[in-house]
Amino acid sequence: MIISMKRHATKAEIEEVCDRIREFGYKVHSSEGEERVIIGAVGIGDVTACLESLEAMPQVEKAVRISAPYKFVSREFRPAKSQIRADGIEIGGDEFVVMAGPCSVESEAQIIETARFVAQHGASFLRGGAFKPRTSPYEFQGLQLDGLKLLYQAKQETGLGIITEVMSDADVGLVAEYADILQIGARNMQNFALLKALGKINRPVMLKRGMSSTIKELLMSAEYIVAHGNSNVILCERGIRTFETETRNTCDITAIAVLNELSHLPVILDPSHATGKRSLVPALGRAGVAIGADGLIVEVHPHPEKALSDGAQSLSFSQFEAMMRDLAPYIALWKQARVAEAVTA
Ligand code: PEP
Ligand code: MN
Repeated sequence: MIISMKRHATKAEIEEVCDRIREFGYKVHSSEGEERVIIGAVGIGDVTACLESLEAMPQVEKAVRISAPYKFVSREFRPAKSQIRADGIEIGGDEFVVMAGPCSVESEAQIIETARFVAQHGASFLRGGAFKPRTSPYEFQGLQLDGLKLLYQAKQETGLGIITEVMSDADVGLVAEYADILQIGARNMQNFALLKALGKINRPVMLKRGMSSTIKELLMSAEYIVAHGNSNVILCERGIRTFETETRNTCDITAIAVLNELSHLPVILDPSHATGKRSLVPALGRAGVAIGADGLIVEVHPHPEKALSDGAQSLSFSQFEAMMRDLAPYIALWKQARVAEAVTA
């Protein structure tokens, strides 16, 4: 259920409503918007009786049931799109956000050189894994703390925000000291201990869709983070496993439109992992802009052929530059559409 309080409801009136909700056996999550307080009631109880009782309270404007199993992340809860602010940049607003960088942080020279290049060519965030989830235990596992420090150094030198993966709940605090956005990889989308730990911080989190996860499961995982206290969640489509073998994954491009319909959270497309082939990245990036993603996360490496992970899908510097140039007119149209949407909303 969501309960929207009347404008100017006092703290005591809000508390009275919260107490009534608790009497019916529900847990209370309140969110203070610019205009009014919205209270979420989650749990199992007599919905009809609770709604009737709340509607009868004079300070309550509206009490409605949310039919979706995910509550806080649903459009029913918040009809307007959410903007998530990370390092001063708004994601989900009227700027198309590009996050770019290598799959893994490999060395000072590699990350600094890449950060400089992508910053000069339109990226707002530097990506780079310090903790790497690898299929084989014999493959490069990332530079870990040294990698985080190199990302931080790159941020100081370029002003880019940092997005990097956290793989375990034990590392959330550490990664949050260095990163502006914490990335949750596809393999960890349903690591519930990790999701709960992310709920306890207020750093933005980008949650990638699991490779065999449905859209509903992605939203339920996002709900875990929000229900545990952190509403700064960004979703990411990165392709799913299908019978198709020409690409590393199959990009469920429709998922972006579906997520935009079902949820108010911003959505980012990862055309690198979705395809596994650098030649396909720019075309899929265009599709992401056209379908209404809020941004892209793209792998870029100074020498893709020497990359310690995901070289085949990493763009060279010149390919990144060309992609950004080619995307410019599409992004201009995207912006016009965004501004028009905001006017009619
Ligand atoms: C990555 O971003 O490098 C990565 C490991 O992505 P995913 O979790 O989507 O496979
Ligand atoms: Mn990668």
